[in-house]
Amino acid sequence: MPVIKASSLRDLKNRVNIHDIVVRVVALKKAGGGRFKGLCPFHSEKTPSFNVSADKGFFKCFGCGKAGDAINFVMETEGLAFTEAVEAIAQRFGVPLEYEEGTGGPSRETRSLRQEIFEIHDLAADHYRQAFLAATPPGEFIRDYWVRNRRFTPELAEEFRIGFAPPEDGALAAGLYKRKFSEDALRQCGLFYVRDGAVLTLGALRPRFRGRLMIPIRDHQGRVVAFTARQLELTPADDPAREAKYVNSPETPIFTKSQLLFNLDRARAHVGEGHPFVLVEGQLDALRCWSVGLRTAVAPQGTSITDGQLGLLRRYHPQVECFFDSDSAGQKAALRFLPMALKAGLEVRFLVAAGATKLDPDLLFLERGLAAYAELRAGAPTAMQFACRSLLPDPAAASPEQKSRTAQALFEILAQAESSVARAAFLAEIAVYLRVPPAALERDLRAFLARQSGSRYGAAAAAAPAAPAAAANGDSHARATEAHLLFLCLHHEPLLHALAAQLPHEWIDATHAAGRLLDRILAEAAHNGWSGREGLDQLLETEEEKSLVASLLFEAPGDEDLTKIANEGVRSLQRRFLEPQQRQIELEIASKGTNGDPDLLSLLKQRAEITRQLLNPPKLSLGS
Ligand code: ZN
Repeated sequence: MPVIKASSLRDLKNRVNIHDIVVRVVALKKAGGGRFKGLCPFHSEKTPSFNVSADKGFFKCFGCGKAGDAINFVMETEGLAFTEAVEAIAQRFGVPLEYEEGTGGPSRETRSLRQEIFEIHDLAADHYRQAFLAATPPGEFIRDYWVRNRRFTPELAEEFRIGFAPPEDGALAAGLYKRKFSEDALRQCGLFYVRDGAVLTLGALRPRFRGRLMIPIRDHQGRVVAFTARQLELTPADDPAREAKYVNSPETPIFTKSQLLFNLDRARAHVGEGHPFVLVEGQLDALRCWSVGLRTAVAPQGTSITDGQLGLLRRYHPQVECFFDSDSAGQKAALRFLPMALKAGLEVRFLVAAGATKLDPDLLFLERGLAAYAELRAGAPTAMQFACRSLLPDPAAASPEQKSRTAQALFEILAQAESSVARAAFLAEIAVYLRVPPAALERDLRAFLARQSGSRYGAAAAAAPAAPAAAANGDSHARATEAHLLFLCLHHEPLLHALAAQLPHEWIDATHAAGRLLDRILAEAAHNGWSGREGLDQLLETEEEKSLVASLLFEAPGDEDLTKIANEGVRSLQRRFLEPQQRQIELEIASKGTNGDPDLLSLLKQRAEITRQLLNPPKLSLGS
């Protein structure tokens, strides 16, 4: 196991700013005091509660509680083990690492499964790319197909690493097999069919993609994590998915299709004021947009859009233009999409053509380029206008009942928007469109929302957990005492010294991280003095401990009497420690009766001592 030298780790931490690491994943805004804020990558939210302290080198989310340092952040967001995360950061920022002697350098054996599968995908993308460029008849076929059928340029193929899976393709498996990837990685990478239970030999790896155009799918950090493969004339007859126009990689440890948007890694660098995301239906649509200079297009992975994907978009930019096919399936998809987008806090517009002609983004942009986008935008209806038109195309001819039904359907949609300002604006649009008095519509909406919240409350009450919650609370309450004392130690050094001198070690429950850390810090302070924050870093042994400290450091103490709070904490640890003993002694005394048992006297003495201690809890004296 390679072990990175502690000095090297410290050096890395000093040279790399956590802001520069986090900003690759989260759009950060200055929040004053060396702090930055953004939308949390670990839970879904619309208002930022994810904080980064550049000075302290920690992040903390006040929404979901996740916290830690730069290394934790990379571990969590990229799914890496500790050493891998350190190496990834070092590589990115060009900081050399030193390893403890005899532990070796970065080695294949310690790569995680995910890391291996990332590597396999990178190699596979190269392999397919070479086949695309090969001076062979299939190579010529695919380049011709790309340029003549799809009408894309060779440069675009280069830029997006477009490839080709040969109809007979033993070379990919052989190449990977030779590189000694683990059996798990080869089985789980999704590029091969492997019969369950079959011994993994080279022959057992049958390629999933054969005779297809290969589009690499990158995650939002730009790593190839999957492929979409398009059917060609060359797709062999014995391909189990022969009839499928598109075949996608299955879900793997690095690919969750509901959490990924095609081209997001590049589009997110181009969004900004006046440049919203453009959501298109397919990868080739997104490539078409890119090729004409519309760089903010993203596409879901073949299936309908998910909340996770919309949350991902929202993290980078709040506006999205929705560009679906203008056929009825596309319109239905758009109507399903709208409430989800509002719920995610996105501001939506729809790119639709004026006439009833079928509008295919690929074709439109191919023929008319960026000018077509400008025209579509100029006439783009807002979310509510779009919904109104789709639900009731001819309001002038509609009966009052039809209008009322339409209004109810629209309420369903706008109820998803949390901002009351947005709701009011939507309502105004609806009133104009349906030609009904705004006040009447507002009354109906209020009635609708009241009904809805009534039923939601009922559902929540029914789903509420019963008794077990109490036990869990008790447990977390017990732990909270140590965490609280730890918090006081971190923020008020005199208390740290007082506790180090006066809190008996055995009162601390060291079965959880807060207790272990409190115990360790107090012991350090008692025996070796205390060297401040610098010393603290060295005492943190696990990721859980680091995360705990990060989260405690982020909270500021109020102006309460900290010593009084510390005394209450000590008192509660004392009772937790002594009271069970007291009960035990009472039991033993009761069982002895009064027959002059020699143990009885000793038990009575012990009881008296415990009672005395409980009546005189320790009072911390500061600065003595
Ligand atoms: Zn969070």
